[in-house]
Amino acid sequence: MDTLLKTHNKLQFLHPIHGFTEKLGNLSSSKFQHQETRLGMRRSCLKGFRNSSVRVRSSALLELVPETKKENLEFELPMYDPSKGLVVDLAVVGGGPAGLAVAQQVSEAGLSVCSIDPSPKLIWPNNYGVWVDEFEALDLLDCLDTTWSGAVVFIDDKSKKDLDRPYGRVNRKQLKSKMMQKCILNGVHFHQAKVVKVIHEESKSLLICNDGVTVQAAVVLDATGFSRCLVQYDKPYNPGYQVAYGILAEVEEHPFDVNKMVFMDWRDSHLNDNTELRERNSRIPTFLYAMPFSSERIFLEETSLVARPGLPVEDIQERMVARLKHLGIKVKSIEEDERCVIPMGGPLPVLPQRVVGIGGTAGMVHPSTGYMVARTLAAAPVVASSIVRYLDSDRNISGNALSAAVWKDLWPIERRRQREFFCFGMDILLKLDLQATRRFFDAFFDLEPRYWHGFLSSRLFLPDLIFFGLSLFSHASNISRIEIMAKGTLPLVNMINNLIQDTE
Ligand SMILES: Cc1cc2nc3c(=O)[nH]c(=O)nc-3n(C[C@H](O)[C@H](O)[C@H](O)COP(=O)(O)OP(=O)(O)OC[C@H]3O[C@@H](n4cnc5c(N)ncnc54)[C@H](O)[C@@H]3O)c2cc1C
Repeated sequence: MDTLLKTHNKLQFLHPIHGFTEKLGNLSSSKFQHQETRLGMRRSCLKGFRNSSVRVRSSALLELVPETKKENLEFELPMYDPSKGLVVDLAVVGGGPAGLAVAQQVSEAGLSVCSIDPSPKLIWPNNYGVWVDEFEALDLLDCLDTTWSGAVVFIDDKSKKDLDRPYGRVNRKQLKSKMMQKCILNGVHFHQAKVVKVIHEESKSLLICNDGVTVQAAVVLDATGFSRCLVQYDKPYNPGYQVAYGILAEVEEHPFDVNKMVFMDWRDSHLNDNTELRERNSRIPTFLYAMPFSSERIFLEETSLVARPGLPVEDIQERMVARLKHLGIKVKSIEEDERCVIPMGGPLPVLPQRVVGIGGTAGMVHPSTGYMVARTLAAAPVVASSIVRYLDSDRNISGNALSAAVWKDLWPIERRRQREFFCFGMDILLKLDLQATRRFFDAFFDLEPRYWHGFLSSRLFLPDLIFFGLSLFSHASNISRIEIMAKGTLPLVNMINNLIQDTE
């Protein structure tokens, strides 16, 4: 029998049969910190892609995880010229999916845009998954590199749900290239730096960058993700955290159907021999999310859906080691890894405020799921057309009044109410142990597709969300109903309170 040993900051697999040691954990520097600014900046420890993946020999798995993953797009970027002292219409701080989408769309309308990011050509590091219908609605099917005809959820060892909804993996190189090409074509200028400060004047703002350059703009958009560089919050920041550890790996074999992605695997039989880990997992469960690309290539991510405080990554890795071993998955090499820490829920930023926001910085992560890419890309045209409308108009609107109008379009009352409901969902999930979580998802995925699709893709608004809640309750087992009532009453009261207080 293999033995799992925990050493100082290391987890080791001893394979007496083969006489070698496989360590799956060497993360002395990855102490989990509860500062969202750092949390958001995922420490991507990835090096190279397919051709340069690192072979797992008989030595430590995590030691072999590539140190850096950096691939740049091959573009000549038109750079911002600070010597001209121009005031651009829009400065976008942050070149992630959210920022680039707005830069592209505002520039398309003929306005001048400067995009500021420390690494504007770098291909985004995160492995994004989306429901295919979400990208179809955005006309972005060409930006998926793999699709699965459906997904599967393992509730436990005896019960499995087949989800008849195609899922896709975002081709982030293609998506970023497409957006950058359009930006370049539309005349966007780029500045390679970090913004450290903003100074507002009546009708323009000055962005001070860490290279000493000042960019002047009529409107500033903070799209810096979870680092929330400029957008202000005035309430205590108390999000839940989704924490995950994922590897894109070449394996000898794996047990999953390559036509289905594994949306959630809540099985815990891999912990049968480890009472302590089993107990930890019973209290705050983690599940496996997997994208099988072929019989030998697979993305595997052990995920804590939401916890407060978030689970340490080391804990999640330990669970993943046990799971992979139990599933008989032997990793031959790792192409990429990712440590994912996503703040979920918590208060919205101050509404309105002078700096406009989008994406992670503007509270747009789905508070019950951690998903955001599709929702942000769908919101980008709303923000962009709002900025264009107010800047272009003869309404003489600028400065604070203009930003207030844009914020209103981004977070109208229906969206705020929707988010409040999703936060209510998160508050319940935070309290469920493994058994209760299983019962919850057993009922959730039995709902009519329009309900669970709509909930996951932020398409349901308050009246429908109430029917969704009632339907979930009626599908739940008796014990699950009692759990939902016991754990959900206080969050329900909070939600109703917040809904009453939040008026137009
Ligand atoms: C590991 C991981 C996996 C995820 N997977 C999914 C998924 O599968 N599906 C999904 O829907 N969502 C997923 N998410 C959630 C969310 O969609 C992503 O976090 C998404 O990248 C957020 O986009 P964004 O544009 O708001 O921010 P980011 O992508 O974080 O981009 C922010 C940009 O701002 C730049 N920046 C930061 N500070 C400054 C500054 N001071 N000055 C200038 N630039 C700055 C950064 O360098 C970065 O380029 C994932 C998140 C993580 C962390």
